[in-house]
Amino acid sequence: MTIVITGATGNLGRLVMQQLLYRVPASKIAVSVRNPGAAKSWGEQQMEVRYGDYDVPESLESSFRGASKLLLISSPHADDDVRLRQHMAAVDAAKRAGVSHIVYTSIVRPELGKLPLHRLHLETERAIASAGIPYTILRNAYYSDIVKLLGVREAVDCGELRSPPGQWTFNTAAREDLAAAAVTVLTEKGHENRTYELTAERAWGLSELAKVLSEVTGRRVVYRTDPAMTSIVYRTLPLADMKFVSPDLVWLAGKPLRSLTDEVRELFSPINKR
Ligand code: NAP
Repeated sequence: MTIVITGATGNLGRLVMQQLLYRVPASKIAVSVRNPGAAKSWGEQQMEVRYGDYDVPESLESSFRGASKLLLISSPHADDDVRLRQHMAAVDAAKRAGVSHIVYTSIVRPELGKLPLHRLHLETERAIASAGIPYTILRNAYYSDIVKLLGVREAVDCGELRSPPGQWTFNTAAREDLAAAAVTVLTEKGHENRTYELTAERAWGLSELAKVLSEVTGRRVVYRTDPAMTSIVYRTLPLADMKFVSPDLVWLAGKPLRSLTDEVRELFSPINKR
């Protein structure tokens, strides 16, 4: 039994690895990475470090060899056409390598999204489902990092959290919790041919964010809408399903999820000074 992890040098992959090591001996874990030098620390912990580049299909086949479970972390490439080609190469390689179960990190409700990334994830999910390999789709929510893009530091400085008019809601998740869910699927029996929607248990809004900013920083912050305001974030939000929530994440993570307060507290902790 070998669990093979791609993207292990990335933010999500590192969290998966850390949590996986509590559940599985290092000798049963292999990482598939494009730059083995960057994965030296995993090698030092007795994990097998294999060369696997999404752009080099033959490297993927050899790096997926013997995988009882393969965690395919979606590519971060900025061009979704390139990403799709990379994902297709990975799925083909998984077939040729005889992978027993493929676990893929998708995005929440891609069928309702209108961005190129939604099509990318849907097409990858379809390719996986038709590959004939048992699979689990982890439809990850938008990362809680989105909080950083909402002008929270300026809000604390000037006392106002501002957005364009609209009913803005966010069903985000922390990578740490998404990693915990992935580890459950990688280490438990079952989960074959299941698709999980991994979101917060409830969506949060900007009035709540302003309140949390006040509580965490001790500075008064109020929320107000500003018709003159515009930003790429607020232009993009209507193109994704930011309202839908599901109990799948808390169930798979098996622990309380990180809250909005946890995220804001970390953002304003002294080690994260701007
Ligand atoms: P990340 O920190 O950028 O990590 C991406 C990982 O992919 C790294 O390990 C990177 O390796 C690896 N990688 C890049 N190009 C590769 C290639 N050609 N072949 C093999 N591996 C390659 O991303 P993350 O924060 O962990 O997030 C994981 C994924 O979630 C992202 O890749 C992206 O698809 C998706 N994502 C989701 C959200 C969301 O809100 N749900 C937001 C952003 C991204 P190196 O260390 O060698 O670069």
